This record gives sequence, C-alpha cells and structure tokens, in this order.
Amino acid sequence: MSRVLVIGCGGVANVAIRKCCMVSEVFTELMIASRTKEKCDVLAEELRKISKTKIETAKVDADSKDELVKLINSYKPDLVMNIALPYQDLTIMDACLECHVNYMDTANYEPENTDDPEWRKIYEKRCKEEGFSAYFDYSWQWAYKKKFEDAGLIALLGSGFDPGVTQAYVAYAKKHEFDTIDTIDILDCNGGDHGYKFATNFNPEVNLREVSAPGSYWEDGHWIEIPAMSIKREYDFDQVGMKDMYLLHHEEIESIAKNLPEVKRIRFFMTFGQSYLDHMRCLEDVGMLSTTPVMFEGKEIVPIKFLKALLPDPASLGPRTHGKTNIGCIFTGKKDGKDKTYYIYNVCDHQECYKEVKSQAISYTTGVPAMCGALMLLTGKWNTPGVHTIEELDPDPFIEALDKYGLPKSESHDPVLVK
Ligand code: NDP
Repeated sequence: MSRVLVIGCGGVANVAIRKCCMVSEVFTELMIASRTKEKCDVLAEELRKISKTKIETAKVDADSKDELVKLINSYKPDLVMNIALPYQDLTIMDACLECHVNYMDTANYEPENTDDPEWRKIYEKRCKEEGFSAYFDYSWQWAYKKKFEDAGLIALLGSGFDPGVTQAYVAYAKKHEFDTIDTIDILDCNGGDHGYKFATNFNPEVNLREVSAPGSYWEDGHWIEIPAMSIKREYDFDQVGMKDMYLLHHEEIESIAKNLPEVKRIRFFMTFGQSYLDHMRCLEDVGMLSTTPVMFEGKEIVPIKFLKALLPDPASLGPRTHGKTNIGCIFTGKKDGKDKTYYIYNVCDHQECYKEVKSQAISYTTGVPAMCGALMLLTGKWNTPGVHTIEELDPDPFIEALDKYGLPKSESHDPVLVK
C-alpha cells in the first residue's frame, strides 16, 4: 500500500507511470502532477481503464517550492518521484524536506539558466578545482545529505539507466565478480532508427547540452577533459552490430569515482550516427544550441528552446523506431589474485517497448528503472536515510526487479575490451 506523487508527464514519466500501474499491489494510489495538466489527464484516463491503481492528477509548477509544498501537503504521498527535468531537482528536494517525504529522480541537478552570475561563480570554481566543465554535477544534491539523514528520509539520485542501472551493475560486479575493480567502461548503444534525419530520443534541451559538451574521463584519481567527440571507438554490440561510439562526460562517473576509489579508470561511451553528429555540429555552429536568450522581432527567445519546438517530440518516436539498444558496463579487475574481465548489459527492443507501453526504448530503459527504484524505497529494500546514488545500495533486489519488469541482464565473462 503506498501513495506516490509523480512530477512530470513526459516521455520517461509516461513509461514509469504505466509500469507503476502494472504493479498496483505496491503502487496503490498515484498522483500525476505536471506543468501541463491535460497530458496527465489523458494518461490517467487511459490507465484507469486497465489498472487497479487509484490515479489522480494535478497541475503544478515544480519551479515553485510553495506550489509543491501545497500539493505534497494535500496529497500526503510516501514518495515523490521527480521525472520532470533536472532544473527542478533542488526545488523538489526542498519541498520534500519541508513536507517530510522521500524523494527520487532520474538525472542530477543542472540550472536552466547557465548565465546566472551566482551559479556561474560556483560553477567556475568547481571547473578549476575538479577539472571537468559539464554544467551538471552532484555537489548541489550531495549538499543535502545531512538534512535528509537528520530527517530520517531518503533521496535516491539518478534512478534511470545511465545513471541508474549502470551504477547497480558496478555494485553487482563488485559484490559478485571482483575483489578489486581496475577499470570500468560504460557503453551506451542505441541501434534504433526512427527515420528522421535528426531527432533526439529524450528531452532535446537536456540531450543536446550533454552531447555537445567536452568529454571527460576519470584516470588515476583525476579528471581528464577532451574536446567534444574527439575520442572515437568502434564496438561490435550483441544483437545490434558494429557501431561508432564517442567518449562523453557522464554523471555517474563522478559518483562511482567517489564511492569506489580503487577504480583506476572510468570512461563512458555513447554511439552516434554520422547524420546526428553533422546536424548537431551545424546547429551548434549557428548558435541554435545556446541557452542565452536573443531578441527576435521584438521578442526574447532562447535558441535551444526554439529548436526544441521544431524537433519531433521524443514521445512521438515510439511507433516509428525500430532496432535495439544495448547498454552496460565492461570491467577489468582481480578475483582471488587473478586478472578477470566481465561485461553486464541489457538489450532492449524499441518495437517491443512500443507494444508494451507505447514508447521507444530510450524512455523505456529510463522509466522502468525509475519504477524499480521507487519499488525499492516503497518496499523498504533500500531504507538507509540520506542522499544516495545507486552504486551505494544493495544491487541484488534492484537487478532482480529489472529482470522481472522488462530489463533483464545479459553477461559475458570473456568480453572484447575497448582500447
Ligand atoms: P520530457 O521533456 O519528455 O518531459 C518532462 C516533463 O516534465 C514534461 O511533462 C514537462 O511538462 C514537465 N515539466 C517541465 N518543467 C516543469 C515544471 N517547471 N513543473 C512541472 N512540470 C514540469 O523529458 P523526458 O521525459 O525525456 O526526461 C525526464 C527526465 O529523465 C529528465 O530529467 C532527463 O534528464 C531524465 N533522463 C534520464 C535518463 C537516465 O538514463 N538516467 C535518460 C533519459 C532521460 P510539459 O508537458 O508542460 O512540458
């Protein structure tokens, strides 16, 4: 028996909510609240016909702590699932603390306005001290650790696939396969084709910011930053085939490096087709990826927001995307004094996802771990107060839930390593 408040009703939230409603014995009551209430109403209407979960909807602006506090106090949930955007993470965490409710999200905090001078000062100091320049980092949310501990509450950060499942794979490898881990390569391959020349598989703003930023990796206790897309490798992915992949900065590298200091090198690679890269480079060169407002015909517009309005809605890609994703981690390390390698990954089929939840595999591979993370909190499998990333927690019940609810693991003890 639980009451859950989901904030956001976009691509990922749609999958997470549908999956929660398939586990109605745990998710007995659910409120969907977002900026555009009509989207919540359409989904609720559909799900009420097929699920026992009691669903309500509400309108909320999650940038306003006051609105959130009012909503949370009136609904009194056991857990708030933040599946809106990373911009809202801190406001929702503040509201959860004020209302004494557990919190979870799928991506770590970054500000919407990266020109804000106050934020910029802290950001520039962090760039110098830490050595990576991504707009997002964990420091903002880790700063809430003591507050959540003192309140006896949990904040679960990044319960998607990457971050999320990839960190559970790290904890699983450490628990079952290795005494010490030396290197981790996280490989995110999307072998799907939606037929558009250019579209992003999740929120275009968040996606394009991430992909156009400099890459970085962790080696021997510090970050090494490289120009965007300057390290390229080829890899032959199980059930997908040979793909080009590029080294990116990614948020889970930061928390894995902190929680498993023994690891000498951590890298993250994502596959991209040439057409995607050519379009992105061109858009960047003409300034369309900028978040700084410009005046256009007497009106202020933010270029990347305008671009978002032109691009296909990621939620509409489901019916037209064919092919598979393959996401996982390759490890090298030692067990009983001997060198060892291990690969754990999931393969997910875009069309199978669409049949099940009317979504492509990118939203599916994020929405299912969001539901499974919530399941861990609501059933008390993860119950240590504080602010946690997933490699800190027992991976077994989470990976069991992923196996059961649509993202089964595959393993290899003799993987091809990435050079
Ligand atoms: P969408 O843009 O599809 O959906 C975002 C939702 O949040 C929309 O319903 C939007 O409302 C709502 N929203 C935005 N701002 C506010 C606000 N101020 N108040 C209330 N609601 C708001 O994004 P996705 O579903 O693609 O992504 C959701 C999250 O998942 C993001 O944080 C993304 O970074 C993360 N993600 C994580 C991954 C992982 O593996 N860990 C992978 C992919 C995504 P409206 O309809 O009005 O726009």
